Amino acid sequence: MTFHKTLAGCEEGSRAAWQGFVASYTPTLLRLLSVYAPACNEERQKQVCQESLRLLCADNFRRLRTLDHQSERECIVHLRAFLLETGANQLDPAADNRNAPEPTPDTVKDLLKGLPLIHQLVLFLKLAGYSDGTLEGILRITPTVAQSGLQRLQQKYTVILKRERDGGLWPAAWMNLLRHAWAGGSDACPHLRQFTRILDGQTGWNEKESAEKHTVGCLHCLERWAALREVTHWLGVMPPLPADHVDVLLSDLPVKAEPRARTSLLKWMFG
Ligand SMILES: [Zn+2]
Repeated sequence: MTFHKTLAGCEEGSRAAWQGFVASYTPTLLRLLSVYAPACNEERQKQVCQESLRLLCADNFRRLRTLDHQSERECIVHLRAFLLETGANQLDPAADNRNAPEPTPDTVKDLLKGLPLIHQLVLFLKLAGYSDGTLEGILRITPTVAQSGLQRLQQKYTVILKRERDGGLWPAAWMNLLRHAWAGGSDACPHLRQFTRILDGQTGWNEKESAEKHTVGCLHCLERWAALREVTHWLGVMPPLPADHVDVLLSDLPVKAEPRARTSLLKWMFG
């Protein structure tokens, strides 16, 4: 089933469509939670996912209808923000790391200043909580490029360098930074679609150059660029959720029962 059909089916409460949606996208959502809410164990992560799905379905799928409907990755970028906001109450500011200054919008903007876009992305995703290996996979860069992007972290943020596991050290502070970035867009910001087109090599050099020039000075757009790269990566590598896990997540949603019951009744009546 294609993305568009799945989404349309989900809005009608089709069980098959929701099975597809949950199987395809929940693994990415769980992976994101393990980075942005690392204190949550697997069970809590599933509960946050379940709560997000429930909220998407509330009020005749009102929230689901507000997600981007044109492109899968853009839809999941919006879903990512919705999920992280839903899970934000799990983050305890007291649990943030104290061995390095917590990242704030101002300190992060200072760290990013003057860097080329690729190094900004490296630094941003590193502070968010990614290990070097995952970061290289998300941005499709060599360790050498990654390391030169990390140079500015040598002084104050040695605590996050050389980490082998994914998981943010300042989940509460980073959530504040994300909220600041989400709220900070302006009319000058390119549409997320333009970033997708750039990522897919579908734009001319001028368009790419102008969007990149804007993004190096705009935290709102840098965050969306980083989110698009993350989502693209995880959608590509995470296997679908096993059917029994899908059923557990669906049990709480207002999905229509399979027509199986009706079929078996007809079968019983007419053989
Ligand atoms: Zn912008």
